Amino acid sequence: MIIIMASREKKDVDHVVEKVEAFGYRAHIIEGVERTVVAAVGDERGKERLHALESLAHVEQVVPILKPYKLAGLQVKEERTVVSCGSVKIGGGNFCIVGGPCSVESREQILETAEICKKAGANILRGGAYKPRTSPYSFQGMEEEGLILLEEAGKAFGMPVVTEVMTVEQVPLVEKHADMFQIGARNMQNFGLLKAVGKSRKPVFLKRGMMSTIQEFLMSAEYIMSEGNPNVVLCERGIRTFETETRNTLDIQAVPVLQKHTHLPVVIDPSHAAGQWDLVAPMSKASVAAGADGLMIEVHPRPEEAFSDGPQSLKPQRFADLVNELKPFLELMGQKVS
Ligand code: PEP
Ligand code: MN
Repeated sequence: MIIIMASREKKDVDHVVEKVEAFGYRAHIIEGVERTVVAAVGDERGKERLHALESLAHVEQVVPILKPYKLAGLQVKEERTVVSCGSVKIGGGNFCIVGGPCSVESREQILETAEICKKAGANILRGGAYKPRTSPYSFQGMEEEGLILLEEAGKAFGMPVVTEVMTVEQVPLVEKHADMFQIGARNMQNFGLLKAVGKSRKPVFLKRGMMSTIQEFLMSAEYIMSEGNPNVVLCERGIRTFETETRNTLDIQAVPVLQKHTHLPVVIDPSHAAGQWDLVAPMSKASVAAGADGLMIEVHPRPEEAFSDGPQSLKPQRFADLVNELKPFLELMGQKVS
């Protein structure tokens, strides 16, 4: 249920929050430009009691939230959400370019890649320290050492860092070293993990499961938000279809479809969608044209030597060229890169 406030005064909002919590609901205050609302989420069965709050002078109206995703939906918040990752803003006209290797492989490799990405114009550095690999015999990531190196590289070149967290146990360590959690496609419905990052206040980069619907994707964002963390960035990274020419099929329609349902920023990862580097540039341009709020692109100084995802990684010059080629597209779409 949404309690639309007639008053924006703190004491009135606090009073409603107190009532909502006393009824056994979780209260989320959403301050829009036009109005303040309190979203009461929890067991739907007690909604009659919430309705009674309409009799309060400082409450305008109590209305049900019709969609299954409550906090992620547009009913509670019409304005686009701008998520902060360190000093970088994502969404609402702030375009973000996340660049970096699939995996952190060594100190030299991550420092070299960070410099390449920074010089090309990326504003967030990525790099996996815990890698979800199909085979247990493939490189599994540098783990804690990788997190430390990624943090060092981000600081050295003035970029916040994002990295994947695979288990609930890893959350505190990743939180200590990274500016943003990444939840990988394979963990999009790991509900325990979603709840764990939902308890943090660090932003979460949530990747769409390769076999998940948009509704399921939004429900996963809802898991994070329902724990109190509103800082969620959605990432479309390709889904499984019958097509075998590419690693996955980039669901470019997901951008406008998601934006029809949610206020959260939507980023595209063309690298994992395509699985091959030469498709990354055209799909990046298509992403901007479709209205995406950012891109995540894998970059490696020497893709042929990469421990993971070499074939889809851009060489330094190709990444720099792409960022330049994106400029007119970004301008046309009214997007700025911080
Ligand atoms: C990655 O970003 O390196 C990764 C493993 O992505 P995904 O979870 O989308 O496969
Ligand atoms: Mn990868």
